[in-house]
Amino acid sequence: MSNPPETTVTTAPEPIAECPHCQKPMPLCICDSVTPIEHRLGLLILQHPQEQDRALGTARLTARHFTDATVRVGLSWPSLSKALGRPVENAARWAVLYLGSARAADLDTEGEIVALNRKGEVAENQRAILGKLEGVVLLDGTWSQAKALWWRNPWMLKCQRVILNPAHPSRYGRLRREPRRDGLSTIEATATILAGLERRPDIAATLHASFERMLARYREVQAEMPELAPKPAAKDRRRGASRGRRS
Ligand SMILES: [Zn+2]
Repeated sequence: MSNPPETTVTTAPEPIAECPHCQKPMPLCICDSVTPIEHRLGLLILQHPQEQDRALGTARLTARHFTDATVRVGLSWPSLSKALGRPVENAARWAVLYLGSARAADLDTEGEIVALNRKGEVAENQRAILGKLEGVVLLDGTWSQAKALWWRNPWMLKCQRVILNPAHPSRYGRLRREPRRDGLSTIEATATILAGLERRPDIAATLHASFERMLARYREVQAEMPELAPKPAAKDRRRGASRGRRS
């Protein structure tokens, strides 16, 4: 028995710095390329505490694009005003994007943004409802996490529920299967809803360009530093999933 030579003493790997804005590891951060844009509607993103996909998550990157955007991490808040951190006079003028069991494809509607009534049906007078909105609440997380946020925050029933009927599939492609039940990431959902409500196609173009840059950076880093950008967990639970180990 002999002591190992001192040269084999291992040092802990340097921790990789995290961006204070998007909270991604610095190699994945694209914040430098983002210039906040002026906009009319408020934006509140409520993130489920277990939504911790720092590599592919988009909530904070989305908020970074706007001069009036708030991200809160948690499960429940007593009111919209508390969640937002400022008084809201009329919660009905804030939309909550929540698909739930509704399916845009089943509803007889053409718009990309659809206001629902309390019964989950297409509301009458879409244009009037959507035209008077002052802000938008997005639920960031998987479908079941969004559902938990919806049920734990009864004040959302006072808001205007909306769903999206996206014209294009998500740019995540195969990187992330079903990030939301309507197939869109938070940054894409924000692009659709804010550009639509404000009639500002430039908002959608800016957010989509940032999302493309984020995905491109992710793919580069995944090739060079796989530990920083792990492949998303496979949702495929078929028995053959572990067959690779046999060979
Ligand atoms: Zn960043």
